[in-house]
Amino acid sequence: MEKIRVLVWNEYIHEKESEDIKKIYPDGIHGAIAEGLGKFDSFEVKTATLDMSECGLDEESLNNTDVLIWWSHLRHAEIPDEIAERVRKRVLDGMGFLVLHSSHLCKPFVKLMGTCCRSKWRENDEKERIWIIEPAHPIARNLPEYIELANEETYGERFEIPTPDELVFVSWFSGGEVFRSGCCWKRGLGKIFYFRPGHEAYPTYYRDDIRQILANAAYWARPSEGPAPTLGNVKVPYENIKTVDHSNEYHP
Ligand code: ZN
Repeated sequence: MEKIRVLVWNEYIHEKESEDIKKIYPDGIHGAIAEGLGKFDSFEVKTATLDMSECGLDEESLNNTDVLIWWSHLRHAEIPDEIAERVRKRVLDGMGFLVLHSSHLCKPFVKLMGTCCRSKWRENDEKERIWIIEPAHPIARNLPEYIELANEETYGERFEIPTPDELVFVSWFSGGEVFRSGCCWKRGLGKIFYFRPGHEAYPTYYRDDIRQILANAAYWARPSEGPAPTLGNVKVPYENIKTVDHSNEYHP
């Protein structure tokens, strides 16, 4: 049984610079996400951080990644354009891309969307209720009708993104805002999922329901095994995507 190779990438700044955040995520946000995915048999999970050589996103690492999960906030600009472009191309070649919380402003996501990707926001300890509006979608697997987070950062529309191909979750906040909090797109051969919760000041990534969503999304975003398209007389480079036998696999 081949496992889906997931790389959890985190800028890893808040957890090192703030004692309060370090208490919540002593092993980093990436550590908590990796631990959560590790509870599902489908995945082989690695982590990488901004302080690594080539930001931990060298060609070889990306070529051996089926699904890249990304968390960033303070240092979007420190990703060199060349590396952002490398990630974008890997997505077009079929790598799944899960973009979490404030990562809606990370360079590879903004490049893939083609809009500014900004939104309204407010840190005010408000309640978030995430409505699962497409219960038949694979990312909604094993979820209740809605999920409540007692305290989260508030995001509000307008969220300046292209209309998602599929909208799976919509959030309501106790301050009155609504937000498209679970958005799917396809770009080239790759699948992209944006998931809103996960502000660094709250222990959101330890929750079983949030971990179920990330597992569902990583499974959904894995490379498909369709034919490599021929564009003009040139085959799209697809050799880096390992063909995975999912026929006998434990589903998250
Ligand atoms: Zn935040």
